[in-house]
Amino acid sequence: MAIITTPALVLRTIDYSETSLIVWLYTQQQGRVHVIAKGARRARSPFEGALEPLVLGELVFYRKANKPDALDIAKEFDPIDLHRGLRQDLDRMHRGVYLTELLGELAEPDAPNEEAWTAIVAALDALARGPASELEVVLFRAELALIASAGLAPALRGCASCGRPDVGAFSIPAGGLLCEEHARRDPAARRIPVGALKTLSALAAGERLRVGREIAGAIRGLLDDFITHHLGKRLRTQRYLTSRRPQRQRIGSPT
Ligand SMILES: [Zn+2]
Repeated sequence: MAIITTPALVLRTIDYSETSLIVWLYTQQQGRVHVIAKGARRARSPFEGALEPLVLGELVFYRKANKPDALDIAKEFDPIDLHRGLRQDLDRMHRGVYLTELLGELAEPDAPNEEAWTAIVAALDALARGPASELEVVLFRAELALIASAGLAPALRGCASCGRPDVGAFSIPAGGLLCEEHARRDPAARRIPVGALKTLSALAAGERLRVGREIAGAIRGLLDDFITHHLGKRLRTQRYLTSRRPQRQRIGSPT
């Protein structure tokens, strides 16, 4: 049995027995891990309520050797960033929860990925503290970075089939943009406004830019379909992004 200490982000928690939790975390050193946190549901928990989704902390856990199906055992979790700004604003929280669900689905267990780690930490920080006007762009960039970190980045620099630079359509099965000729042959190809194509490329390159409502809508639809195609299912939290609830609603901190 090895003991491992690593920065970690709580993705989700599942009640387990009267007093314990099973916790999915994304860790910098080990990628996605599943630990059992004994006593975490007790009033006087050794984890002091820090094992909540969206909390970034330092995790110490015991790794069970030679048993791939055995749960690792959490020993300590010291919060580094509770991301309070995310929890106090539904619009920010929905985006944060969605990104952690996306990461949890894309990440293989025990496969560390520095690119994914950097992307999620930066995105949650920006969602918690950044200006409200930039939330959409933060989300798009994070989604594209997480998709890329899983090796699924769409071809955005030219036609996915022939590499030609003049493109006008997007095909999810073909894996990205298509030129006129290849778009004609691909029944799944869809026309995308030129502005949306350019914006998508700029976002994938990590540029900070303003995105108008119409272009944001086109990109949202495209990313939803792209992600659903690759995961083979629609993410539970995706609906929060398309059907907006009243914004700026205050909610209490989760207990
Ligand atoms: Zn082509």
